Amino acid sequence: MRRHRNVKIVATLGPASSTYEMIRALFEAGADVFRLNMSHGVHEDIRKRHEIIRQVERDLGRPIGILADLQGPKLRVGVFANGSEELVEGAKFRMDLSTAPGDVNRVNLPHPEIFAALEAGTTLLVNDGKIRLRVNACGKDFADCTVEVGGTISNRKGVNVPDVVLPLAALSEKDRGDLEFACELGVDWLALSFVQRPDDVTEARALAKGRAAILSKIEKPAAVKAYDAILQVSDGIMVARGDLGVELPVTSVPPIQKRLVRGARAAAKPVIVATQMLESMIESPVPTRAEVSDVATAIYEGADAIMLSAESAAGKYPVEAVTTMNNVAMSVEKDPTYRSVIEASRQVRRESVADGIVAAAREIAEATNIKAICCFSQTGTTASLVARERPHVPIIALTPLMSTARRMALTWGAHCVITEPQERFKGAVLAAIGAARSDGFATEEDQIVVTAGVPFNVKGTTNILRVAPCDERLISRVDPG
Ligand code: PGA
Ligand code: MN
Repeated sequence: MRRHRNVKIVATLGPASSTYEMIRALFEAGADVFRLNMSHGVHEDIRKRHEIIRQVERDLGRPIGILADLQGPKLRVGVFANGSEELVEGAKFRMDLSTAPGDVNRVNLPHPEIFAALEAGTTLLVNDGKIRLRVNACGKDFADCTVEVGGTISNRKGVNVPDVVLPLAALSEKDRGDLEFACELGVDWLALSFVQRPDDVTEARALAKGRAAILSKIEKPAAVKAYDAILQVSDGIMVARGDLGVELPVTSVPPIQKRLVRGARAAAKPVIVATQMLESMIESPVPTRAEVSDVATAIYEGADAIMLSAESAAGKYPVEAVTTMNNVAMSVEKDPTYRSVIEASRQVRRESVADGIVAAAREIAEATNIKAICCFSQTGTTASLVARERPHVPIIALTPLMSTARRMALTWGAHCVITEPQERFKGAVLAAIGAARSDGFATEEDQIVVTAGVPFNVKGTTNILRVAPCDERLISRVDPG
């Protein structure tokens, strides 16, 4: 089974998508990676979904990526005696540490560290930015605010503090428990919410101990500022437009999206564009024109992956949403303008042998009738470098490691195939030919490019490029080694 597009699709699972039939249907419609959201759902539900995904993987014989999304330091107010209150513009409102139920004058904000970081003039946003409060005065256990934009505030609504780097640990107690749980399950990626500094990423990496790759969600102004340093210590990036559009003016989100996608591609690390991509499909079987344009834009920009949130987790049309993304992707990637945009945004980087080999592989594929670029990869690094080139022919990433194949499910264009561990280059070429032919990328008459590192099974040794005919009999004759 192969995809007929390069951009990958991430589908969030939830109540609307937790049965075997639905998860399999989502995969067959085009979902390459499933997101398990640790903010919602108890561990037992997450465990069941994880098991079902692995069952689908076994039944269909294709590696599937699983991304566990940690809640991170998300601030929430406490509860109200009446469940909710109406805050009107100009009114005074207090947040404090008292756990007594709230009323129209005050509510609990159970985060002592926050009060220490606030100052007069700081903005507090409640309920996805719908309510705006300005701090007039604060102390170690309270903040007195004026309501600048009113609205309904109710139990446990989220609070954003955009202007301040919060003195919060990147991982709460809950996050640490969730991280360990997800790693034990065997997820491939951990997404970190509200990353503020590179150290937040390093801390999570130390806890994951190599069991999962680390993806940083960029959704705080501080993370946008420190992007280069955060990218350097991360394995992947998510442009988390939901919270980003609350913490910053929404009009700044498109330029930030472009910059983050470009930076991640240059670093050969996968980048996901996320949130509200097909929002109306939560309720409707067809998208709006604007949503189709938004999905298309992310693909034109060269994102590795596009993501569904509530559309697949809680909406009425999860399969239709995946199918829509798949169809938009095929339509964009056929467009000659897409090719020219992708070519124009390629940043030449020639710092290593591997850089040179992947560039040469792409150039040879462009100049001749090559059907696929096949690369042998232990950690996935070489396949990521090939993907950074954004070649016009398919990328077949061969690896003996299931964990690498699953992580690569997020990488632009990578069709992952598990092979036997290789000892010699000739065996590798034969394995590449086998994969290219059996998965429908080439026939006996075709040619492929094969890259590998010899000696095999050592990280970071890519040093061979071979143009090979797809007829094994020709290989045996000319390749004694
Ligand atoms: P979330 O992250 O869905 O976990 O909030 C994505 C975003 O904020 O866009
Ligand atoms: Mn978010």
